[in-house]
Amino acid sequence: MSVKRGEQTHPMTGNPQKPMTLALEAARDAARQGEVPVGAVIIRDGVVLASASNRTVTDQDPTAHAEILVLREAARKIGSERLIDCDLYVTLEPCAMCAGAISFARIRRLYFGAGDPKGGAVEHGPRFFSQPTCHHAPEIYGGLGETESATLLKEFFKERRNENT
Ligand SMILES: [Zn+2]
Repeated sequence: MSVKRGEQTHPMTGNPQKPMTLALEAARDAARQGEVPVGAVIIRDGVVLASASNRTVTDQDPTAHAEILVLREAARKIGSERLIDCDLYVTLEPCAMCAGAISFARIRRLYFGAGDPKGGAVEHGPRFFSQPTCHHAPEIYGGLGETESATLLKEFFKERRNENT
């Protein structure tokens, strides 16, 4: 598995900046609701099929990560558990659970913003897509909208620490 980095390396099928902007907006919504600010969007043929942000607190559901929510919504819309030709944009490097779900869904391209050394499973930790037990790996593009994504998370946790002291 190789993760391509830098804004110039993204395939020129549409503008990948736009979906990541939508994902960032979703992440900002999450922060306003006291959720960890991570947002995700699924696109097929330039059309937004699903957009969501983390809802683990609101839904009292440890699996309600933004990626899982958009995968469910897009699959419902398509009427299939396989999201063929779909691209997923998420503001933070996916965790192991979400990487697994992205693989099962047969996502074509994965674009993520900030890397997550603590909980990420793409470039860090289990490096899920590189494992022999992973049967479908998307093309992966990291670092898209990285600065905005990381700043959003940093500010969120800083505010929470201040509230707790
Ligand atoms: Zn996750």
